[in-house]
Amino acid sequence: MTAEIICVGTEILLGNIVNTNAAYLAEQLAGLGISCYYQTVVGDNGERLLETLELAAKRSEIIILSGGLGPTQDDLTKETVAKFCGKKLLMDEKSKKQIAEYFEKRKMKPTENNWKQAMLPDGARVFENHNGTAPGMAVETKKNKFILLPGPPEELKLMFEESVAPYLKEQSPFVILSQTVKTCGLSESFVEEQLRDLIDKQTNPTIATYAKTGEVHVRVTAKADSQKEASKLIKPMVKELKSRFGNDIYSTDDGVTLEKALADLLQSAGLTISCAESCTGGLISATLINVPGISELYKAGFVTYSNKAKRKLLGVKKGTLEKYGAVSSQTAQEMVKGLLAETKTDVGIAVTGIAGPDGGTKEKPVGLVYISCNVKGKVTVKECHFNGTREKIRRASVTTALMLARSCVLEYLSKEILK
Ligand code: ATP
Repeated sequence: MTAEIICVGTEILLGNIVNTNAAYLAEQLAGLGISCYYQTVVGDNGERLLETLELAAKRSEIIILSGGLGPTQDDLTKETVAKFCGKKLLMDEKSKKQIAEYFEKRKMKPTENNWKQAMLPDGARVFENHNGTAPGMAVETKKNKFILLPGPPEELKLMFEESVAPYLKEQSPFVILSQTVKTCGLSESFVEEQLRDLIDKQTNPTIATYAKTGEVHVRVTAKADSQKEASKLIKPMVKELKSRFGNDIYSTDDGVTLEKALADLLQSAGLTISCAESCTGGLISATLINVPGISELYKAGFVTYSNKAKRKLLGVKKGTLEKYGAVSSQTAQEMVKGLLAETKTDVGIAVTGIAGPDGGTKEKPVGLVYISCNVKGKVTVKECHFNGTREKIRRASVTTALMLARSCVLEYLSKEILK
């Protein structure tokens, strides 16, 4: 099966919004083993959309469209696809009822044009919208399948997961199964080099690497007649990856993030955690708190931005700050020692650095960040040199802090076992 993506919206063409839907959809299609050869952005213009559909229908079987399903005049996607496929728009009573319920629940009154969203091409398969009002749909012709999705990313993603992925799986005579092996702390080029022999001779399953901030994911995808067969093909490859990357793998579960992996590790070891942050300003705590159920492990977080706060809340010595500066290995060490003394937790993470764009010097440039971790009194400090914007440096600091905490806890646990 071949697919292509058409994102509809003048805002995207003007650069007012970033086309994250295309990136999301492309990644999902790859995961389902569907080849996607083209992506197009077209404005809210019926004529140009029609031209785009004509071209797409000639070269791809599945055409996924995002945006333009709203209630206003410039939302034209459904109308144009219906016109292209020669189908009438009819009121879908179930969708109408759902839109009415959506407004009722929010104590709001729908406007007349909201009902336009329940007008669907004759014979369309409806995808319910559990995050908004516009239903999605699949419109089929002899040659093509058009999948229409709402523009807001949170609506599109949920609909894709709940309805579109199962629909696409149904269309394929094969079962496509994939599993993601998630590594942290390694560069993509290193991971690829370690996998070169496997990549060179890959057939089924295939493997592909994806780089994220501080992480590299390796996706193993198998194609087979049944779920069981596909799973059988994936297993030995995942085992091989485990033997090559060992503890650098934090999860082989698609749904597990680095913070969740750290939380699970702490939970299984019965350890609690706290944070002291300077340049990340609470981002590490916020990231950990993304994990449901973290309250059992996460006890406290300090944002100690000023020297005074570092001294007062964490007991960093005046002399240390004067002699080595706030951004130094010594300060990072004292921060994390003071943190554990104050919170009485088992594990502490502290960060101090220069996120920029100002404040850097020749000796201490923007991007210099010290991250420390304290596991029951054993302190480790990592000196990092990050590049990029303030936002990027802060994000990289968070990922590195989580990675450092994970490796320090693993080291602590391996020593405990030997005792
Ligand atoms: P609505 O029912 O909200 O009108 P819609 O299906 O008509 O949704 P659009 O009006 O095209 O969708 O877009 C609504 C919003 O969704 C945009 O303002 C933008 O914030 C977001 N959005 C649309 N397309 C994309 C895209 N390709 N990538 C990321 N965000 C997008």
